[in-house]
Amino acid sequence: MIIVLKAGATDREIRTVEEKIKSHGLSAHISRGTERTIIGAIGDERHVDAEAFEGLEYVEKVLRILKPYKLVSRDFRKEDTVITVRGKKIGGGTVALFAGPCSVENRGMMVGIGGLVAAAGASFLRGGAFKPRTSPYAFQGLGEEGLRYLAEAREATGLPVATELMDPRDIDLVAKYADVIQIGARNMQNFRLLTEVGKLGKPVILKRGLSATIVEWLMSAEYIASEGNQQIILCERGIRTYEQATRNTFDVSAIPVVKGLSHLPVIADPSHAAGKVGLVEPLAAAAIAAGTDGIMVEVHNQPEAALSDGPQSLRPEAFQAMVSRLTRIAAAVGKTLGDA
Ligand code: PEP
Ligand code: MN
Repeated sequence: MIIVLKAGATDREIRTVEEKIKSHGLSAHISRGTERTIIGAIGDERHVDAEAFEGLEYVEKVLRILKPYKLVSRDFRKEDTVITVRGKKIGGGTVALFAGPCSVENRGMMVGIGGLVAAAGASFLRGGAFKPRTSPYAFQGLGEEGLRYLAEAREATGLPVATELMDPRDIDLVAKYADVIQIGARNMQNFRLLTEVGKLGKPVILKRGLSATIVEWLMSAEYIASEGNQQIILCERGIRTYEQATRNTFDVSAIPVVKGLSHLPVIADPSHAAGKVGLVEPLAAAAIAAGTDGIMVEVHNQPEAALSDGPQSLRPEAFQAMVSRLTRIAAAVGKTLGDA
């Protein structure tokens, strides 16, 4: 961290800054210019709050040198992290394929859709039992009953299951059934929830928040990693912009940017980005071309009757057709898609 003092800072003020730096366990390097004094704080600045210096009236500005996140950064680990769940890989040379309904609605649909997406090449089955709905009057999910149907679908298909955890009070329940725990966009900065999943030994999908910057997203991943859980899968699912033509704006650039900044696998959810079924495939294709480690898509046997996110849900036949086209795009970038 570099602290630039205002012109005319006194010796006493310089000493105050120096002592403050030392009190944080860092050492100070003072450089006196003709007009300005610059003080370098040497050491791990991540534990030092820049505001502690910015608040001093004789400090002009504070520049951070290190990235605010550590464990999830590429600097910390050069190689890509590859996560294996029940033999299925996320990261490495594969594009993992998560597919399934937005919400678990009943046993029949869950086992039915599970079988169809498995046959089409999905490597993971998704479905929400706890749903983060904008309206309190909308379907909120089946809770434990939904988790049981997911587990039955896993039994029937052999696919590992991913499902959302919304509340730390449900963590034991969700962890009992889920192979991968999803933290939804709306909870990306629910720090208590992040801390709790950080204590679990299960992979976590961390969706990007609705209006989160990449650094904020990585800081949330750092919360999980700092508790000891490094099995984190970042998921770009579109961000909120002024554009109304799509439900969210799919930030395809986030994929290569985050893969440059972090060793963690990055997957993409074109369904929630698009909000419209017809846009799912082009966004998925772009994500694969941009280097995604996985795709998550919503599939429903009867989208017009879905209890949530019908307009963006693919029918199983459309999913199957999409997978065969996307497989060729994956091959063009040297990867295999799902289990296809
Ligand atoms: C979902 O996956 O169904 C979901 C609610 O996603 P998001 O948190 O990205 O909105
Ligand atoms: Mn959904």
